[in-house]
Formats: sequence, structure tokens, C-alpha cells
Amino acid sequence: MAKRVLAARFMHETNTFSRVPTDMAAFRRRDFHRDNEIPTAYRGTRSAFGATFEAADTYDWQLVHPISTAATPSGLVTRDAFDAVAELVLRAASEQGPFDGVLLHLHGAMVTEAHEDGEGELLTRLRGVIGPKLPVVVTLDLHANVTQAMVDHASALIAFRTYPHIDAYERALQGADLLERAMQGAIRPKTVLARRPTIYGLNHGRTQDGPMAELLKRADALEASGAALAISVCAGFTRADIRDVGPSVTVTGDGNDPRFQKIAEEFMDYAWETRNVTTIKLLPIPEVIALARQGKPGDKPLVISDYTDNPGGGGYGDATALLKAMVDAALPDVAFHAIYDPAAVQAGLKAGLGRTTLTLGGKTDPSLGGGPLTLEGEITTITNGKFIAYGPMGGGVARDHGPSLVFRVGGIDIVLITNNGQANDLGQFTSLGIDPARYRTVAVKSMHHFRAAFEPIARRIVEVDTGALCAELYSTELFRKVRRPVHPLDAL
Ligand SMILES: [Zn+2]
Repeated sequence: MAKRVLAARFMHETNTFSRVPTDMAAFRRRDFHRDNEIPTAYRGTRSAFGATFEAADTYDWQLVHPISTAATPSGLVTRDAFDAVAELVLRAASEQGPFDGVLLHLHGAMVTEAHEDGEGELLTRLRGVIGPKLPVVVTLDLHANVTQAMVDHASALIAFRTYPHIDAYERALQGADLLERAMQGAIRPKTVLARRPTIYGLNHGRTQDGPMAELLKRADALEASGAALAISVCAGFTRADIRDVGPSVTVTGDGNDPRFQKIAEEFMDYAWETRNVTTIKLLPIPEVIALARQGKPGDKPLVISDYTDNPGGGGYGDATALLKAMVDAALPDVAFHAIYDPAAVQAGLKAGLGRTTLTLGGKTDPSLGGGPLTLEGEITTITNGKFIAYGPMGGGVARDHGPSLVFRVGGIDIVLITNNGQANDLGQFTSLGIDPARYRTVAVKSMHHFRAAFEPIARRIVEVDTGALCAELYSTELFRKVRRPVHPLDAL
């Protein structure tokens, strides 16, 4: 008989230092699909739900999928938004059952107004409805802050193994395969957790080389040998003042066996020893401007990443310090993504194509990364902000930055967007008529995800510190709720 599977996706990476609350409107703006809207949006895409539908076809599952939603990383998820989305999952669990298993696509770093551990709370409530026995497989972001509650209430946790994250599809397939075997009774997945007293580690999850790459290699080997069903190495998300922030390793094994905990502890010993290894090198603004000046006509672009104003890490996306320096330097031939500023876009729409004066950015918190900039220029393109992301991270999924325009100031083409979002797909430029490969300098707001799409077109990549929200700062003033002692707040 066909197995009945409850599937849902509810993702948010919460930057608790952000002053922008994440409400229901934030989820609806970015990505919010109910019931029958979900196959229309995701069938045939290389996304978590795309994989879920394929698995359902392969294993002949009857899927119930009440909700798929994600919001751009930002501040605390409001109580109302969390309860409303959780309720959709819980109601489906109680009213559309019985189910043989559950497959959830979560982030793992959600913090709500009421709960430091959003995913742990969701899973706790779900167990309250479905009971302790049903297999529940959860896919997670590699930047999850994994907690004991998540481990206790999920049968298996399967985290991304790539950063930039280009394997949501593969991990969802892996999770679906594990769920199928568990529903058949062939395995009884149980998960254990190891952590260490540190806020950061594993080179913030960079998988190209270094400690994260080493542990993933070991994890691949152990999974292939059958020593464990799944091993997930999570770097954690450091922009969260919560008790359980930090890196973790979970091992999912068949049944209870002390050797699973031993593997997890050995992995975390290595993560602890290498906690200060970093390949992140943030340059000051004048240095990247000087590098940009060296570009010659016909060069491939210098790609400058504004690490600290990354909307993918909760950055406001409206910091202006880098843009101001570029304008002051009268840099030629620059494509800039982006300034998030719905009001400036509206003013631009009113003005229409042609020359005008706009006041851009610096509105969410003018004290971080530069205040508003008033510039004279020309509006050259206006779009609805919709495009399909075909890049390595995009999976062929539709995206929507809301009404968007290109504002040309001197030699700088500035993209203005209505819905905030990190630059990680060339479509964010090309949908506005900009071919970034043809510019001498390309500026993006992103820490690392931009590399998947932009490294192939870049002559060089540099990261800049503009003093915006996502600066790597660790102090007892910022981190009040974290467990103590903890590295680097205490001498350990
Ligand atoms: Zn991530």
C-alpha cells in the first residue's frame, strides 16, 4: 500500500541582532506556497521540494504538503508568523493522517520572539501530534545551530554539504531515501549530537578547503562504509545571541549504539582544535577601490563582496558605504547589486525612465554601513523584479525581488530592489539587462554564496568590510544569552 508522507518546508535564518522583525508579510514576500501551489512552483526544479516530488514518484508515496515557505534572513520571527506556519503543519498532521512518515525541510537557525530554537519547538509540537514513533527526517542548512530538542524529536538530520549551498536537491533525495527505508522497517534511525563551547568554527562552513572540507570528507567515507546512516556537520550561524549558537556534528545511526556518539565527538574534537582557522579576509574600503581602479577595458570583472551587508545573513541590504566610495572615486564600468530600498524604487517608478535624483539606502540603521545617499543619475531599466534563478544555487526556481530598477550614476549601474535578497545568481543582473561579465567591477552583497555564480566570470574576488550589520563581532554586550564559558568570550 502507498505510504502516506507529510512534507513541509519552513525556513528562516534569524539574525537576532537585526532590528527588522520577520513577520508573515516577510514570508509571503519571499516564498510562500500552500498545498496545490507547491507542485506548480517546485516540480521539476533542483530544489528540496523538487526532490521530494521525485522521491514520491519513485517510492509511490501519497504526499500531503500543507506549506512551503522561507523568508530572507532577518530579525526574530514574530510569534504570530511562527504559530501560523507551525499550525499549518500541525493541522495537516492531525487532520490528514494517519501518516507513515514525515519529511521536513528546515533551516535550523530560526529564532522566534518566544523560542530561541524555532525548529526544536516545531518538532516538539509535531511529536505532540504524531507521537514518538513515526520516522521524521529533517533536512537542514549547513549553518544550522543544532539543539538537543531537534535531535530528540527528529529521527534523522541531514544537513547541506556544500557552501555555497548547491545540494538542497541531493540532500532532500538522501533524506527521502532514508525515510523510505525507515518506513519499510529496514532501519530505525536515531540521531546523536556533539558540540563544543564555541560560538564559531569550521571556517564558517566553507567547504572548498580547511576543516569543514576535511570533516565532510571523513563523513562521506563513513557513510559510504555503512558505519553510519548520515553524518551532518554544521558550522552554525554566528549572528544569533542564543544559548545553543555554534558548530555541531550529528550522527544518525541504525538504532542505539555508543559508537555513533564516539564518531560525533571525534569530529567535534577536530572542529574545536581548528576553531580559529579562517580563510575570510576582509579588506578595508579604500583598498578595494584601489584594486578596482586597476581594471582595464576588456578585463573580466573584479568581484567585490560586501560581506558585512549580506542579506543572506540578515544584513539590511541598504548599506551605502561601498557605493559612496565608488561614486566618490568616479569608478568606471561598475555593476552594483544592490540597494534594498522600496521607497527609492517607488520614487524611481514615479520619475520614470530618464534623469532624476534619488535618495538611496541607509534607512534601516544609518549608523551601520553608511546612511542615505542622494545621487543624480539616470533610470535606465524598470522591471517587476521577477526572474528564474538558473545558477548553481537557483535550481530553476522563480524568484521575485519586487519592482526593481537600474539607476546609472556616472559609470555605475546600481540595481535598486523592493524585496531584499543576497546576490547569488547572474539572473539578478541579466533580468535587468545587465551582463555582469562585461563590467570591469561587479559589487555584490553576499558573504560566500555569490561565488557559485560569480567566480566563473571573475578575474579576482575580494571581500570588503563596510561596517554593516554582519561584521564578525564577539563581545559579552552582544552575546548575553549564550552558554558560558564559551569561545571566544572566555579564555578556553
Ligand atoms: Zn547557510
